[in-house]
Amino acid sequence: AGSDSVKVAVRVRPFNQREKNAGSKCIISMNGQTTVITNPENGDTKSFSYDHSYWSHDDFNEDEDGVYHPASPEGPYADQKTVFNDLGKGVLDNAWQGYNAALFAYGQTGSGKSYSMIGYGANKGIVPITCEELFKVIDDNEDKEKQLQVTFSMLEIYNEQVRDLLVKTKPPHGGLKIRQNPSAGFYVEGLRAVPVRAYTEIEKLMEQGTINRTTASTNMNATSSRSHMVITIRFVQVFKNAMGQSNTRSSDVNLVDLAGSERADSTGATGDRLKEGSAINQSLSTLGNVISALADLSLGKKKVLVPYRDSVLTKLLQSALGGNSRTIMIAALSPADINYDETLSTLRYADRAKKIQNKAVVNESPTE
Ligand code: ADP
Ligand code: MG
Repeated sequence: AGSDSVKVAVRVRPFNQREKNAGSKCIISMNGQTTVITNPENGDTKSFSYDHSYWSHDDFNEDEDGVYHPASPEGPYADQKTVFNDLGKGVLDNAWQGYNAALFAYGQTGSGKSYSMIGYGANKGIVPITCEELFKVIDDNEDKEKQLQVTFSMLEIYNEQVRDLLVKTKPPHGGLKIRQNPSAGFYVEGLRAVPVRAYTEIEKLMEQGTINRTTASTNMNATSSRSHMVITIRFVQVFKNAMGQSNTRSSDVNLVDLAGSERADSTGATGDRLKEGSAINQSLSTLGNVISALADLSLGKKKVLVPYRDSVLTKLLQSALGGNSRTIMIAALSPADINYDETLSTLRYADRAKKIQNKAVVNESPTE
């Protein structure tokens, strides 16, 4: 098995109304893979390089369906299709080959995580496009000896408690339990994994899950969710190998829309909201600690303890972080000067994630 580093992309969105009302200036610029941020107080610049730097700030046309396209065919506005082609296609190829894959979106509330992952209206994000493409490939399969199965799960982590988003009823007190299995690692006990035979079935489940997802309003963005969402698509292929024996190849694709990365105080949260904020930050800061520890390991440091066990999020993402997975992180950025501190901290977080080395292996064995 080779070693793959986590692929990291950043994407800057257009100004929102609040930023326009504040007369915001754009402090982000991009050139190729490089993203530059300017400190609005003193004009100092910091430069970062990523696998992809997506300029989705301005210069786009909206068609009659409300889909954003580059103003000219070559860009510069990076639309959903561009991001899918770079990131989602690879996830699909990996799944086909039997590698686990993970894609997670990081950034402050309102920065564009859900837009890139799920999308809004006709501007479909990476998750729906990837699922749609997966079923195109499945439907094109003409090998009658080959059986293809897809299951779909969707969960939420809210205040360190796990809830199945495909179940309408309230979760048990304290949320669903996390168990550990020597071969499969951490998993959520009793989580539904729904067999799906067509993209439209996934679309319906995602809709239902999104409605069930906890949302609470903060000053930053009234509709933005304060929870982490994890979608898992398991893709299983059963086929005959050259010797005529039945083999099973499987791939878990984890798609993670993280809660806002901002500190509770910057959103004006108080009381219950603040409690949520600190639990969310606990999960995200553990994720940060895991990323830092893994970065140290890949730089050759010895005796590094990776604190996976310190949060629900990092337990469930363990294989995606430094384990058997090909992993992509997309960091969403606000373009506005008023968000300088949060945006800089997102750029630094993303910079650290680049250093993680994973060890992806094909999951294939004789069918049991
Ligand atoms: P988050 O999930 O990080 O809280 P959202 O994805 O909901 O943020 O984005 C906030 C707003 O910004 C939404 O109205 C969304 O449509 C818009 N937006 C985000 N990213 C883009 C983009 N790349 N292009 C156009 N609009 C975007
Ligand atoms: Mg969101």
